[in-house]
Amino acid sequence: MIFRQLFEPDSSTYTYLLADETSGQCVLIDPVLDTLERDLRVLHDLGLTLSYTLETHMHADHLSAGKKLREFTGCKIAVPALDNLACADIGIEEGTPFNIGTLTLHPLFTPGHTSTHHAYLFDNGMQKVLFSGDALLIEACGRTDFQSGDAQTLYRSIQDKFFSLPDETLVYPAHDYEGRQITTIRQEKNRNPRLGKGKTEAEFVAIMNSLNLPYPRKIDFAVPGNQLCGQCPDNVPEQYRGPCDIIQMPDFLISKPLGDQG
Ligand code: FE
Repeated sequence: MIFRQLFEPDSSTYTYLLADETSGQCVLIDPVLDTLERDLRVLHDLGLTLSYTLETHMHADHLSAGKKLREFTGCKIAVPALDNLACADIGIEEGTPFNIGTLTLHPLFTPGHTSTHHAYLFDNGMQKVLFSGDALLIEACGRTDFQSGDAQTLYRSIQDKFFSLPDETLVYPAHDYEGRQITTIRQEKNRNPRLGKGKTEAEFVAIMNSLNLPYPRKIDFAVPGNQLCGQCPDNVPEQYRGPCDIIQMPDFLISKPLGDQG
């Protein structure tokens, strides 16, 4: 397997590239519009074919690159089926493995940060790797105070779906704001200040309810845009419009020309 952890600094988002070396097929988990060209260059440099973009949830802090990646590469857009997005090609559900060539991801329905959030578990029989989205972050977790968030629900998702995994499971989150890149289930059980050391549901809910986080600066355009798979809505403020206006890419980065979408 080819694996890359890619970072978008404005929203501190991690995008994950997983590729099946035999077929050259790959998936980008949570690609960000701002790093569209960077991601196309990574695909080109590695000689890979983008088969899918795959979202963990309806992001409020960035616009997805899904729609533009589909325009430039002909890939398919996969999102949780519960999101019911007309723009998507594939609806993901727990219990239905998601295959990228010979690679398999197991979707885990993990609501709480949003009501339709899914994480993805890779398991090759020797090593389990969890792409935890915003449900579980490194010594943190996704906020539960906007969109369809709910702290009790998030607690149950993490306890039932994540903390039941083997301690040595590697965990790659969708964000880190302090430059950290990876954790494990064991480390989060021990060190997560909100959930670790056997914190009760009541303790977790009290912590989440006292965070007093600021209003997300991109939510008013990111959520409506992501409901259209990352199409920029009209209300994107001037300072964030740059990536919206990209309509061309160098030819060598495009695997399926615009206007040839079939
Ligand atoms: Fe999020």
